[in-house]
Amino acid sequence: MDFETAKQLDSDYIIGSYARFPVLLTQGKGACVQDDTGKTYIDFTSGIGVNALGFCEDGWVAAVSAQLARLQHTSNLYYTEPCIQTAKLLCEKSGMKKVFFGNSGAEANEGVIKAARKYSFLKYGAGRNTILALENSFHGRTMAALSATGQAAYHNYFFPFVDGFVFAKANDFADTLSKMTADVCAVMLETVQGEGGVVPLDAEYVQAVAKACQEKDILLIVDEVQTGLGRTGKYFSYQHFGIQPDLVSCAKGLGGGLPIGAVLFGEKTASVFTAGDHGSTFGGNPVVCAGAVHILQTMDETFLEQVAQKGAFLREKIAQMPHVTGVSGLGMMLGISLDIEAKPIIQKALEHGLLVLSAKEKIRLLPPLNITQAQMEQGLEILQTVLSQ
Ligand SMILES: *Cc1c(COP(=O)(O)O)cnc(C)c1O
Repeated sequence: MDFETAKQLDSDYIIGSYARFPVLLTQGKGACVQDDTGKTYIDFTSGIGVNALGFCEDGWVAAVSAQLARLQHTSNLYYTEPCIQTAKLLCEKSGMKKVFFGNSGAEANEGVIKAARKYSFLKYGAGRNTILALENSFHGRTMAALSATGQAAYHNYFFPFVDGFVFAKANDFADTLSKMTADVCAVMLETVQGEGGVVPLDAEYVQAVAKACQEKDILLIVDEVQTGLGRTGKYFSYQHFGIQPDLVSCAKGLGGGLPIGAVLFGEKTASVFTAGDHGSTFGGNPVVCAGAVHILQTMDETFLEQVAQKGAFLREKIAQMPHVTGVSGLGMMLGISLDIEAKPIIQKALEHGLLVLSAKEKIRLLPPLNITQAQMEQGLEILQTVLSQ
């Protein structure tokens, strides 16, 4: 199929909920991907932070393929090994105690919200169920996740939203503390607001919120859907802040390209759910989990150090480019502010063979974590060219 045919059929049969780039991608390896004409692109997107090890990494393909040919699905009524292994590795790397598997980030966030409310109900009874989220947050597209999303643009059309969500100003501890009232059961945050424009929270703020949560027995929920699984140079971004959340949601990078979401439960919340409280038909799928085990085993301390180094390298090079007024983010999750419009630059980068993302008014980069030095330099060269035109 060529691009024009694909574009026509897509518009004939698929709803227009995505503004797609005019490219038909056909195959990829590592940080390189090709379109139908054979043109190659350097990938600084990882499919929005999903392909942690790039396209079709050998070990991941082998793990997934072997499991696919052995046992593809059983339902959660039976034990399967890959799901147990994934959960064990997640706990070991996160300091959390238990795991629940779903299929996406939004679904993981539905899980943390339900868990927080049940924790509070069991301990304090009805009425203490408000989730305090942050302005400019993004937690997903399902109804509760949308209700937790602190951006007015997402709060149209779909009324009524889910009750019991209030918002505090990110990085404003006095405002946050004033909203940690007797009806609040949890504070929910992203340490780096991804969709919100790659906006990192201040360490003092995150630590002060964590401390206040502990004092008031308000659960701390960290949404690691975008920041988790090595993206920021730690297994989970909260590990930069020396805090331990009560609930963590993760998804994107965990499956290496296959759909998976997970809720991680801390000491306080590990036994909140009992049989029948929560579930997912597809959650913990053995094929997806076989890939996740490979991702988790690949990410050792050396790998994470390299992520941090690559992030620092990209940051330094980009900061020196024309029109760049700032680079935000953590590790290999970067937001580039420009003194010109980002959209035309993103379009031109594509034409020159570089895939990048946007977040609000910034260019956003989420390169595969195992991208090579040569590929980074090739991508940077394209960015430099496009910004110099
Ligand atoms: C992408 C994202 C989500 C939603 O994940 P889906 O898999 O699209 O449901 C939730 N939270 C954050 C921080 C995200 O970046």
